[in-house]
Amino acid sequence: MNKEIEEEIRFVLEDDNELMRAALQPGSGLDARNKQLNRELIKRHEKILAKLDKGELLSQEDLQLVRDANEIHLNDEDNLNGRHKEAVEIDNWLDLMMELSTKEAFEILEKHLHDDSHTPAVVFRALHTLWEEITPNDVVDVRAFDEEGKCLKCGSRVSFADVTDTLVFVGDEIVKRHDGDISNRNCVRCTYPGQYRDYEHYDKAGS
Ligand SMILES: [Zn+2]
Repeated sequence: MNKEIEEEIRFVLEDDNELMRAALQPGSGLDARNKQLNRELIKRHEKILAKLDKGELLSQEDLQLVRDANEIHLNDEDNLNGRHKEAVEIDNWLDLMMELSTKEAFEILEKHLHDDSHTPAVVFRALHTLWEEITPNDVVDVRAFDEEGKCLKCGSRVSFADVTDTLVFVGDEIVKRHDGDISNRNCVRCTYPGQYRDYEHYDKAGS
């Protein structure tokens, strides 16, 4: 991580912690539940600061907390706190570091293409074709499991699911892992009867 960004992140987390600690003081008017939430958030911020100290990578969840803490400075367009420029830098950096859902990626492309009056109509068609492709049948799959994860056909609770993770390599080193979504979840008893014996005990124990 760039040193300057790192310092800016430290500042927003420490600054937010300071505000939250002030609100923990007696007579601050904050109720017990919100005080508890403040304490938890302070701890999570401290964990992120410790990761920065150790030079560890921040998780997507960490980055979201940084984004939340940075918001007050980002919205401070009159620069009353004197950190607006830095907040914009953090926000731009977060844009590059944080994962996008398919929907968010689509919306970014659509917005930028819309803003350019020279975008030919065929580009929008191409974009929407891709959208159709990644959301087949509006993602309404036929349900195969009930609310408790039991196969609707046979009642077994054991299923296999595929997860496709994406690893980011720099040279030979893995610097980041994007967790994949679960896909292709299949009942083992119905779909892989040959392998069911190895898992049968889970169903027996649960019934
Ligand atoms: Zn089944």
